[in-house]
Amino acid sequence: MGNNRSTTLSAVYRNQGKCSGRHEFHAACLQEKIPAVRKRARIHLLEGDGTMKAVRMHGLGGTEVLHYEDAPEPLPRAGEVLLRVRSASLNHLDIWTRAGLPGRQPPRMPHILGNDAAGEIAALGEGVDHLRIGDRVVVNPGYGCGHCEHCLSGRETLCREYRILGYELPGTYAQYVTLPAQNVVPMPPSLDFEGAGSIGLVFLTAWHMLVTLAKVRPGETVLVLGAGSGVGIAAIQIAKLFGAHVIATASGEEKCEKAVRLGADETIDHAQQEIYREVRRLTQKKGVEVVVEHVGQVTWPDSLRSLQPGGRLVTCGATTGPFGETDIRYIFSRQLQVLGSYMGSRGELLQLMPLFADGRLRPVVDRTFPLSEAAAAQEHIEARRHFGKVVLLPD
Ligand SMILES: [Zn+2]
Repeated sequence: MGNNRSTTLSAVYRNQGKCSGRHEFHAACLQEKIPAVRKRARIHLLEGDGTMKAVRMHGLGGTEVLHYEDAPEPLPRAGEVLLRVRSASLNHLDIWTRAGLPGRQPPRMPHILGNDAAGEIAALGEGVDHLRIGDRVVVNPGYGCGHCEHCLSGRETLCREYRILGYELPGTYAQYVTLPAQNVVPMPPSLDFEGAGSIGLVFLTAWHMLVTLAKVRPGETVLVLGAGSGVGIAAIQIAKLFGAHVIATASGEEKCEKAVRLGADETIDHAQQEIYREVRRLTQKKGVEVVVEHVGQVTWPDSLRSLQPGGRLVTCGATTGPFGETDIRYIFSRQLQVLGSYMGSRGELLQLMPLFADGRLRPVVDRTFPLSEAAAAQEHIEARRHFGKVVLLPD
C-alpha cells in the first residue's frame, strides 16, 4: 500500500484466523468478496500478523493476575477507529476493576484494563470520514448507545448503556484498541504522547465536576481533596482557570509544595492536620463554596462540614470506602447541594483541548513505565507515592 495511508481505500487484510462472521475481516472470505468489501469498507491494510502485545487479566485479584502477552489485534467495525496506543495512563478504576467491585459483574475474561490513551489512528472502520490514518488523538474513554434521549442531548453518561474502555470494554493496556470515531479528539500539537495519554479521564471528570455541575465562579473558594491524584491535579488547575481561590489537601510537605506549584493558594497536609479545622482557620470560619470530593469515607464528614451555607459538594469517587457519615440536618439547614459526577461528555473533552493547546492547562505525569511493567505501575499507584499521573508506554 506504500506510504499513502490517507483517505483512499488502500484495502484490507491479513487476518488468517477462523472466520468470525465479519467477512470483511477474514482473508479467505475477502478473496471472494473483495469488490463488495472495497465498496463499503474503508479499512486500511495493516502490517503484522494480527496479534499485538497487551496486558491481560484472566481472573480477578492482585497485580499477579496481569500478564503481558500476545492477544488478537482488534479490528474496527463501522463507525470505529483502530488506535495505535502510544501512551496509556492508569486510573484508580483499573485497580477496582482488577480486584473486583462488590455487586458488579466482572468483565469478560481475558480482560484488558486501561481507560485512557493517546495515539495514532491506524485504521478506519466503514463510514469514518473525518479522520485520517496517522492522526494523533486523545481518547474519551466512555460512550453510550448513541441514540437515546441522554446520548442525543450530550449527556451520554446517563445512558443505560454507557460503558468505559478498560472497565466494561477492552481497554488501552495494549498496542491497539478500537473505539467509536466520535470518542477521539485531535491531540494538541503542544502535547507529547505521555502527557496527552494522561488527560482524558481525569480532566474530563474534573471539568464536568467544577464547570458543568458546581458552576464555579471567580472569587469562590474551592477545596480540592487529594491534590496529587489525577482528579486533584486537574481540579486545582481548572478552579484556578475560573478565578477561584484554591485550598488543596495532600499528604506530606513535598506533595503540598507540588500542589502550590500547580496553582493551589493554600494547602492542608492531611497527614498532619485536620481538614475541617484548617478550612475554618483559612477561611476565617466561613467555609468554602465548593468541595471537590473523591476520597470518600475517610474525608466525607469533613468535606460536608467544610462547606459554607449554600455550598456545593461534588463527588466522583470513594477511594477510601463508600459509606460516608452524613448529618442530614446539616444538609437541609445549611441548604447544601451534594452533586454526583461520573465522567463527562464528548463535547466537554473538546472544550478542554484548546486550553491544553495554549498551555493554560497542563498534564502532570509522575512517571512512566513500559507497558510490560503494568503490574509495577499499579503497585506504585497503590502505594500512593505518586503526584500526578502514571503512564504506560507500549513498545
Ligand atoms: Zn444512550
